[in-house]
Amino acid sequence: MINSITKSIYINGQWLDVDPEKSDLISNPATLEALTSVAHGGAEETKQAIKAADQAFQSWGKLSGRKRSKILYKAHELMLADAERLGTILTMEQGKPLKEAIGEVKGAAAFLLWYAEEASRAYGEWIPSSVRSKRMLVIPQPVGVVGAITPWNFPSSMITRKLGPALAAGCTVVLKPAPETPLSAVEIVKIFEQAGMPPGVVNLVTGDAEAIGKEMLTNKTVRHITFTGSTNVGKYLMRESAEHIKKLSLELGGHAPIIVFDDADIDKAVSLSLASKFRNNGQTCICANRVFVHEAVAEDFQAKLKEKVEALKVGNGLDEETDLGPLINAQAVEKVQSHLGDAIEKGATVVCGGSLDESEHGHFISPTVLANVSDHMRIMIEETFGPIMPLQTFTDEDVVIEKANQTDYGLAAYIFTENTSRTIRVSEALEYGIVGVNDVFPAVPEAPFGGIKQSGIGKEGGHHGMDDFLEKKFVSLGIDV
Ligand code: ADP
Repeated sequence: MINSITKSIYINGQWLDVDPEKSDLISNPATLEALTSVAHGGAEETKQAIKAADQAFQSWGKLSGRKRSKILYKAHELMLADAERLGTILTMEQGKPLKEAIGEVKGAAAFLLWYAEEASRAYGEWIPSSVRSKRMLVIPQPVGVVGAITPWNFPSSMITRKLGPALAAGCTVVLKPAPETPLSAVEIVKIFEQAGMPPGVVNLVTGDAEAIGKEMLTNKTVRHITFTGSTNVGKYLMRESAEHIKKLSLELGGHAPIIVFDDADIDKAVSLSLASKFRNNGQTCICANRVFVHEAVAEDFQAKLKEKVEALKVGNGLDEETDLGPLINAQAVEKVQSHLGDAIEKGATVVCGGSLDESEHGHFISPTVLANVSDHMRIMIEETFGPIMPLQTFTDEDVVIEKANQTDYGLAAYIFTENTSRTIRVSEALEYGIVGVNDVFPAVPEAPFGGIKQSGIGKEGGHHGMDDFLEKKFVSLGIDV
């Protein structure tokens, strides 16, 4: 147990007491042991948080970027200095191996650093006028109060990817983290507090997702909702935000293909495909969901992959040896099991793994590779969010591109090739927001990350990441000449 009760609602610079009757138990997915309880907030707390954010916006939004940047720099420093402890908390509530968790915390801090730097670079425009007596300016201004809704798979970095640019732009925020992983959110908000963030600029509400979300959607003061999560909830937020025409940033599901061409460096393709699929136990929206390997290199690829996958160690993320932690909860195990069962029933063969019994001590399943996979299996159609890698072979570049694009998702795709012309040709043809070429780690602070089609709207990262949080106001000046 970290603590029997953790204060998890933070409004206008105050941590609210938790009513034990209105609290949620948080447990460790590796041991199923209770860690602590957090507050079960709802519409009322969200309303108060929005009001506080609105009041704080009146001054935060008017500060110079340089002043806002100072606090973000400080938060970055504090987060880095505490990465080990924060990583441990993250592993305990989410399950991922400690080394991955510490890596995530450092990555999360890097977003604060990037947006500390960007805060002073929200440039406007001077538009050359076609009329002599007019001058035209475009001035960027913060959107206002932002509702941020984050998922459990990256409990730390998903928060700073949203809050970094929003705060740098001059917006104030009400954060609603995933119910499974509120503890990392509490720690991040404490870091902002310690860094000197004025009261009301960052507010936190944990609890009833539907009620908190509804208040964010119906309260006119919230001007922008930034969300990472499932496509279904994304669609709901989009529909419901129509009433007040709120701005939206949506990072939704993915169904990433990996294409390994016959001119690829096979060892590199094997190690990176493995890293893409099994990092965070396959619970990432950009992880490889479908792997297409050219027939000429398929045997070699499969044999090398099998050897590496069999060497992966599954266990408690706090154990140093662990490569794969547990899945987040019993429903996640159920979904992965049903995808596996469906594939086997329809003719897939298990290359390795495949033992999906839920251990009584946690939500563990073995990393699995499937061959003889066909297009009508659920695993090739839906996002699995678990450690199962389906392999298919191909011979023709055009055919494999068509297959890769045959999905409503469009977040990330990966290719392995050493051929420059093919790199450009295939990157251009893939209908995805992100293409990794001999690279599977595209989520970095300095570049735009985001999907197309039903994978989302908007970009996080890079200077592009601030765009969603800035209105571009046109000021048209008539002057005497
Ligand atoms: P997952 O199935 O991976 O948990 P979700 O889309 O359900 O993905 O969850 C992502 C985030 O969206 C979480 O913070 C969750 O609590 C939140 N969420 C889920 N349903 C709603 C809703 N109706 N309104 C607002 N937020 C929601």
